[in-house]
Amino acid sequence: MQHIIDRFVSYVTVDTESDPNSETTPSTAKQWDLANQLVEELKTIGMEDVTIDENAYIMATLPSNVDHDVPVIGFVAHFDTTPDFTGANVKPQIVKNYDGGDIVLNAEQNIVLSPSYFKDMLQYKGQTLITTDGTTLLGADDKAGITEIVSAMEYLIQHPEIKHGKIRVGFTPDEEIGRGAHKFDVAKFGAEWAYTMDGSQIGELEYENFNAAGVKVTFKGKSVHPGYAKGKMINSMLLANQFIAALPENEVPERTSGYEGFYHVVGITGSIEESTVQLIIRDHDKAKFEARKENVARIAEEMNASYLKQFGEPIVIADIKDQYYNMKEKVVPVFHIVDIAEQAMKDLGIAPLIKPIRGGTDGCQLSYMGLPCPNIFAGGHNFHGKYEYVPAESMQKATDVIVKIAELTAIKYNG
Ligand SMILES: [Zn+2]
Repeated sequence: MQHIIDRFVSYVTVDTESDPNSETTPSTAKQWDLANQLVEELKTIGMEDVTIDENAYIMATLPSNVDHDVPVIGFVAHFDTTPDFTGANVKPQIVKNYDGGDIVLNAEQNIVLSPSYFKDMLQYKGQTLITTDGTTLLGADDKAGITEIVSAMEYLIQHPEIKHGKIRVGFTPDEEIGRGAHKFDVAKFGAEWAYTMDGSQIGELEYENFNAAGVKVTFKGKSVHPGYAKGKMINSMLLANQFIAALPENEVPERTSGYEGFYHVVGITGSIEESTVQLIIRDHDKAKFEARKENVARIAEEMNASYLKQFGEPIVIADIKDQYYNMKEKVVPVFHIVDIAEQAMKDLGIAPLIKPIRGGTDGCQLSYMGLPCPNIFAGGHNFHGKYEYVPAESMQKATDVIVKIAELTAIKYNG
């Protein structure tokens, strides 16, 4: 276990925060620091074909050690951390034999990680928790995933008696700004399917995510001196208000869960002459997703119709763009890839937690690029902030799951 902890600490102490305002890949030069370190480490543990391209995408191979044909499988994780919270100068704290009480992250600033608020902590009583010092995020998202993949490959190399097919490893930059899959060379990776090790608590196994669209609605107004405005002025901000009020009021993120989709207003700007509303549309169900987009278009059309006489041209312009789709569509036809992961967990005494993701993953983009890619737990909690923590035992279990998946895949395809 200490080996895994040391490895994890060696990753999280390197700052790899990504930057959505950058055009380059990786979006920040500092991501190269960890990328280069990972390349050396993959070579050191004995991986083959270790490559890093001009965008810092890392790939490596563990060759098959069986004679029969086994599909090539892959494991993917990202080494950047979110720009939502600082990832510089991470000082991990190791809490051994966690007693189920409060963990003081920072006495000076009175920052406490408490199970009275974060109830999930209680399931890790007696385990080793790795936390922050209260001033940074931890970076378990997704350096726990990297730790587990490297540790599993090292274990397989050191235990040739465990039989497996060819395994590919892929580490990406910029997942947190939605670009992790963008420059991923699926053909070069050459796997039949893969798993992202990027979920949260132990047992998580995910193969359904949202269908997603982004909408920019522009409202055109007409500015007239308010003293002479009757019958002439059109205040575009009031149009924006009318539009938002026409959306179903309970279908918002704060009032939905599970498979319930939503409309989510994420931004408004406005003046009398012009206003814009940005919103996102999310739904697991493809038909309902399409219906939500149609609903937005219909509201815009109805408003246009009611103002046409007065204004003479459309005053509400809805620009709807699809962002990503539910990977379920790509995973269901090859459902054995979920079955193998589920079986691996059961064999290791881990209760699988299969649930829909209320968001997207790199795996959903990869699935539509030809690499079906469910998501497996990496073990961390409270991502993207100072309360982030990961039990070392969960990282060990995730490592074991990777080894077991390799083993089960070789068995499944034996004769
Ligand atoms: Zn992640």
